[in-house]
Amino acid sequence: MINIILFGPPGSGKGTQAAKLLEKYNLLHISTGDLFRYEIGNKTELGLKARSYMDKGELVPDSVTIGMLRNKVEANPDVEGYIFDGFPRTVPQSKALDILLAEKGEEVTMLLELLVNDEEIVSRLLERAKVSGRSDDADESIIRNRIEVYKKNTTPVADFYAKTGKTHKINGIGEIEEVFERLCGKIDVTCSC
Ligand code: AMP
Repeated sequence: MINIILFGPPGSGKGTQAAKLLEKYNLLHISTGDLFRYEIGNKTELGLKARSYMDKGELVPDSVTIGMLRNKVEANPDVEGYIFDGFPRTVPQSKALDILLAEKGEEVTMLLELLVNDEEIVSRLLERAKVSGRSDDADESIIRNRIEVYKKNTTPVADFYAKTGKTHKINGIGEIEEVFERLCGKIDVTCSC
């Protein structure tokens, strides 16, 4: 299996690139943000709980997020691998993911970190808000809070996987196709796939 963590701040292109990667490498894309939005759309208890955090640009508590991720992975056992997008966002989530994969005799293959500067993120997300309809993309102060939360709580995840040599930094600025080629280049040299 190839298990890729597609990492980076909000608006770094994780969703766009994941959609291209899953086609090329035949992987299951799991976006915890999308899973939460699906729950919100269905007005489930989990959705209601998540919404209060998402609206402010805060992280949903680990216990809720990890449980939801585990259900999704366990519901899809027969895949060639996973692309995790927006997960893990904290070190406890990383440890939970490692345990979950170890139970399957698997491990994280690599973490690919898309590097994009703050001002580019703000302008990309404000632009995306016009089509996504996401309220957390439409308000600059919420976007800036998401960036701060990323720096404080989420960047330690890249350091966590760097300890085992799994973190790779990729320039996330450029045309979609250019960034995709950079990601594929890194995947292809790391796994012989
Ligand atoms: P995203 O679609 O990845 O930008 O996520 C949107 C929002 O969902 C985030 O700002 C968080 O409130 C919540 N969220 C998504 N993934 C996670 C996660 N792994 N841990 C905690 N909160 C999350």
